Amino acid sequence: MSHHQVIIIGSGPAGLTAAIYTARADLAPLVIEGEPSSDSDQPGGQLMLTTEVENFPGFPEGVMGPQLMTDMRSQATRFGAEIVTAKVSRVDFSERPFSIWIGNPEMTEPTHTADTVIVSTGARSVMLGLEAEQRLIGHGLSTCATCDGFFFRDQEIAVVGGGDSALEEAGFLTKFASKVTIVHRRDELRASKIMQNRAFDNPKIEFLWNTIVDDILGESKVEGLAVRDTLTGEARTLAVTGVFIAIGHRPNTDLFADQLDMDEAGYLVTGADRSTTNIEGVFACGDVQDHTYRQAITAAASGCMAAIDAERWLESSSD
Ligand code: NAP
Repeated sequence: MSHHQVIIIGSGPAGLTAAIYTARADLAPLVIEGEPSSDSDQPGGQLMLTTEVENFPGFPEGVMGPQLMTDMRSQATRFGAEIVTAKVSRVDFSERPFSIWIGNPEMTEPTHTADTVIVSTGARSVMLGLEAEQRLIGHGLSTCATCDGFFFRDQEIAVVGGGDSALEEAGFLTKFASKVTIVHRRDELRASKIMQNRAFDNPKIEFLWNTIVDDILGESKVEGLAVRDTLTGEARTLAVTGVFIAIGHRPNTDLFADQLDMDEAGYLVTGADRSTTNIEGVFACGDVQDHTYRQAITAAASGCMAAIDAERWLESSSD
């Protein structure tokens, strides 16, 4: 068993920024970064699934998402952060020091203990479950209009989904695209009335009702969608050069059920303008506690906040 002053669970921009700050505060953090289990599930968070990032300050020419994460990781280790490639299988925050298990969760003894824990396990976009999604993400397929809309200037694109996210993404995308087709599996939207009215009033938005996506076409970039009418069974191709999947997000919080307070969608609840959770000494940052902004820069900023909160808490609890 190894004991640490700070353990950070998760290695996206939030976790690695927390690692840089706590390492520079001489707290020798341990980052449990996760473990690759598929192409779409690997340490480093959602930026590992993107190509070019053009809105992270400091990179006037843009930077590739995986490169940005590799650089953040190197910056953290340079100041003494230790990183292990493993998934946390169980936590016990009921007493201090906090207990963390990697590997077999049935083991009586935890593998690690910590004076303070920073949770930065992120969130994931719900996907359709098509094989093509893994191949084409970052190559015309995206889950973030704010991040990637700019790349679709004057193109015809599609958004899949019928909730507020889909309509918000579609509205934003009409700033760039020449036409946005919302592909929805029913003939009624889940989104709020105000968002619906905005979308209906937008001349660049069209709806494809009662339609599901059977496949995303294109080998190295999106060339179209194979769609099917759920009422008539008719199959056809929708010619688009981009597709945004907006069918919901899930925070990665299963591990913390019954220990950390969550909202009804499963996001961790943090204090107003702070990274504190309901357990003193456990902090949360990044998308695991943010369903509003969901940007690399906001995640990194909240990682900085969590590191400073953790450092101050350690100082005050050692008095
Ligand atoms: P959501 O409300 O759960 O909507 C998901 C949409 O995706 C639904 O229309 C659903 O269809 C569809 N969908 C789900 N799985 C699908 C699948 N496998 N294939 C095809 N379609 C599928 O998710 P959300 O839009 O991300 O919103 C989440 C929460 O955030 C909501 O409470 C929302 O109000 C809030 N939000 C608010 C704003 C805002 O106020 N500006 C913006 C974004 C999100 P069905 O309708 O048929 O189930």
